[in-house]
Amino acid sequence: MGVEVPIIGIARHRLVTDGKGVTTLVAFHGCTLRCKYCLNPQSITPDTVCRHYTPQELYETVCIDQLYFLATGGGVTFGGGEPCLRSEFIAQFRALCGPQWQLTIETCLNVPRHHLEQLLPIIDSYIVDIKELNPIIYASYTTKQNQQVIDNLHWLAEQGWCEQVRIRVPHIPGFNTDADVDKSVEFLRQWGFSNIEQFTYITSKTNNV
Ligand code: SF4
Repeated sequence: MGVEVPIIGIARHRLVTDGKGVTTLVAFHGCTLRCKYCLNPQSITPDTVCRHYTPQELYETVCIDQLYFLATGGGVTFGGGEPCLRSEFIAQFRALCGPQWQLTIETCLNVPRHHLEQLLPIIDSYIVDIKELNPIIYASYTTKQNQQVIDNLHWLAEQGWCEQVRIRVPHIPGFNTDADVDKSVEFLRQWGFSNIEQFTYITSKTNNV
């Protein structure tokens, strides 16, 4: 039967944004952060309205696009919320879908290490939104500390995973500056990451900053 988890949405036929080829985005409920501009607020409100899935039920649901996945080198991208918290579920899902689908994780990486250790052998890539490396700015934006994020990034680099990790560094209106973003990018390059993308959060403040 497998572990059952709350899922806030499943989006099919996505191209490029969430990884290679055609992907289906599966968004889990639950997150470790409380970002001031939360992109998916349903993921941090009570889960009473979410549908719960077992790995088998999710596999049967997303399998409809298997031909697209195999033809384009795509697969399933797990987002949220924080998908790393669902490492046990994702491991059971991998056992069902087999090795051919690309499995990508969109994460903030602020999770205990054991989740990453469980995911490393069974996923293909990470897309990491680091928010901000400056701990004071990070805490004011997310209400949490970011030492765990930094430790996890170093650990992924030590595992030889720099190429499979795409790091997104946001300009966060009202919280960080261009100089802060440049500094984060500089640190990431020093740590061995080169697949780095800068972007700007679209918020009501975007046009005022
Ligand atoms: S990490 Fe994502 S889901 Fe979690 S609080 Fe921040 S924006 Fe919302």
